[in-house]
Amino acid sequence: MPIENWDDKEIIDTDNGSEPAGDLDLKKNEELPIQEKRKRFFQSLNNKFMAMAMAGFLTLGSGWQESFADQIKLTRKDRGTITFSMEEGIKENSLKDFEKKLEEDEPKFMKWLEQYLKGVVVGIDGLTEQMLEPNEKEIQKAEKRLEKSINYSLRMDSAAGQSPEQVLETMTKFSKIRQDNKKVLDYAKKNPESIRNANRFLKEHIKDIILGNIFIDNSKAVRDQMMTSIQSPDISFGAYDVNQIYGIAAYSGISEQVGNNGEIKDSRNYLVITPSSFIFTSGEVDLTAYKNAFVHELGHTIRPRPHNELTPLWRALNEGRVQNIAFEILQYLSKNNSGAEPFIGFQIYYDNLVITASILESVAKSSSYEDLMANWHAGLIDDQELLVKLEIASKEVGVGSTTKYIKNFATSFEEKEYTEIVEASALLASQLLYSIGAGNIKPSAEIMKKILISGRKIGDQQKEIIEKQEGNWRRHTLSVLKNESEEN
Ligand SMILES: [Zn+2]
Repeated sequence: MPIENWDDKEIIDTDNGSEPAGDLDLKKNEELPIQEKRKRFFQSLNNKFMAMAMAGFLTLGSGWQESFADQIKLTRKDRGTITFSMEEGIKENSLKDFEKKLEEDEPKFMKWLEQYLKGVVVGIDGLTEQMLEPNEKEIQKAEKRLEKSINYSLRMDSAAGQSPEQVLETMTKFSKIRQDNKKVLDYAKKNPESIRNANRFLKEHIKDIILGNIFIDNSKAVRDQMMTSIQSPDISFGAYDVNQIYGIAAYSGISEQVGNNGEIKDSRNYLVITPSSFIFTSGEVDLTAYKNAFVHELGHTIRPRPHNELTPLWRALNEGRVQNIAFEILQYLSKNNSGAEPFIGFQIYYDNLVITASILESVAKSSSYEDLMANWHAGLIDDQELLVKLEIASKEVGVGSTTKYIKNFATSFEEKEYTEIVEASALLASQLLYSIGAGNIKPSAEIMKKILISGRKIGDQQKEIIEKQEGNWRRHTLSVLKNESEEN
């Protein structure tokens, strides 16, 4: 079994990929059966944003002996062998240069960005206020709502034939959620300056956070889409938010006000941070965890998304990509700021998916389809086009096929249980490492580990979790090598 200590700690954000959650206040108990259905899905996505898995960083100098916390860059000289070199996701001056260029070439976009940033700053101020001067009446109401939902969910579990032991386990988990909420609210009361500092940090670096997302996407088409479809989100603090029982710690989406004739009267982007965002593995309040959660979630809200129904492939890769980018940004900020730190080990499933996201990104960026992943992520091209172009990109760059593996992963993604997803994501990461190794470089547990911790400011607790994962990675990388050698 992989990681025992994660199952009981369900802190994730929604994939902003499920249908928009809409206004939470409108969610009544009658709607819970649908939520029950989604529960499994959300549980399978456990802790995702906390799992500040990294990657986006890998270096494969001569062979893969070293990994320096940098983004993979694949180059092929004169049709010769592929070389892998270090390329920082976000380099020291990249954001400044990028900003300058945008100011020259896309003044309209920069105007939009300015407005967007203003809105986010207002949102963060509101968040501070809601945390430090909570409306006690509202909080009591929310606590009651949470209690009701918990009781309902437990009844459903019983009715669905769960054993008393399983129900008891769920009860324990739920009561921990309530305790955690109380803990975070108490913490805010007793440490208002710490909360203020954390939010001040986010405000001070908000431009870099957003520019980092736009820089990595590096797509004019996506930026154009942003101007027409994205507005700064309404940001709120969800004390006792019901979604936490489905393993969600932060979430975002679009709420639409629909008129009598079904017309959309108003639509707003929103982002909700719940107290679960503040709790790390130790069970203690951790502001680094919160900052990571915020940057990750904002990464969802800044991005346009497909209009049509979200495909399994999109769902499967969305989180990894957002997380990969959030990690790059935090890594960048951690270099010059004491208030930032990359986060890993919270959720190996996430760590694995970030590795896969960074590999796909690197393949695309190294080919003539530089903004392929960004455009697909924003719904500007569909799955089919993505797969075809990725295949071409892999050929161009001279690595093995990546698409057969991601197709396999996506197909079964939504049916899988959480533990199976952990396994499947480790397998996918191993397979993609194999693909880009193009037969010359072999995936190994050691590489996976290095991708995650090498050159980073990583806490001991997090390192420990990563180390526990090594056996699992070894099993997967060996199975990939075995299967592939049989096939060839
Ligand atoms: Zn997310």
